[in-house]
Amino acid sequence: MKRSLRFVVNLILVIAMASFYTTSASATEFIYVDASQQIYSYDSLCEDISQLCIGHEEFMNYESIATTSQGRNIWLIRFGNLEAENKILITASIHAREYMTAQLVMRMLEEYTLNYDIPQLDGATYRQYFSNCCFYILPMLNPDGVTICQYALGGSKFKANGNGVDLNRNFPIGFGQGGGLSKVPAPCYYPGVAPLSECETMALANLINTVPFTACINYHSMGNINYYGSSINTPENAQRCKNMAAVIGSINGYRAKYCGVANGSFADYFYAVTDAPSVTIEIGTATPVPIGQFTDIYNRNIAVWKIIAGQYLQLP
Ligand SMILES: [Zn+2]
Repeated sequence: MKRSLRFVVNLILVIAMASFYTTSASATEFIYVDASQQIYSYDSLCEDISQLCIGHEEFMNYESIATTSQGRNIWLIRFGNLEAENKILITASIHAREYMTAQLVMRMLEEYTLNYDIPQLDGATYRQYFSNCCFYILPMLNPDGVTICQYALGGSKFKANGNGVDLNRNFPIGFGQGGGLSKVPAPCYYPGVAPLSECETMALANLINTVPFTACINYHSMGNINYYGSSINTPENAQRCKNMAAVIGSINGYRAKYCGVANGSFADYFYAVTDAPSVTIEIGTATPVPIGQFTDIYNRNIAVWKIIAGQYLQLP
């Protein structure tokens, strides 16, 4: 009798503990974005985007803003208050071998999406954080290059797009300037025949000339650095960039570093078009970043969007 009573009590305890851990672990359980494998492919990305959006159309949608020369889509995901005036641009995987940035951005999006209405430790929900903000997320700007890097023989250090153009040297401000450039198509550092010669850069240029963005975060690897600012900035925007880097650094712990002279990068073009701040977050300590570093990178960076979005909340 005693033994059976103890069994029942133990059973109740086990069930209670299981439900406790299930509930408390909900914020870190992932269903879609696989971070157990080194390679996060374009095909995985496409599947994850469509799965994540199902049932969440009220605060998320997506579309292709261009088709690459090899026939892949450049996906744009809108997330948060879709009607909000404050629009934050997120770019990742403009450089092929930095494809973990796509994995990071998608994992962050999954956390925010699946727990949108669940109060966090501070009592606020993501819905509340994002109530005055819409994020425009380009998780894989260079799907052709990423695919070459992941699957072509000897391609693991590939940085360019499918035409051998370094997309982050293909923008108009400072085009063709800076050291170490290639004069012909190459795995890295070839700026292309002219600014915006590539469909990927043209699509991004069209986007920022059409949508009035209020801020931007570009994800690259490597270095654990938050780059900010440029010599082309107005004094006011230089200060905004510095402030934004300080906020992001207080979350991810990466050191802030001033970016300096323009050389055809997207950040410089963004400053010229929008006069809005941007920060480039460089994740990890190698390229491609080894998957073993993912958990630390994710934990350091997951709160960044929520805190940036929170800065646009209207105070009562
Ligand atoms: Zn890069």
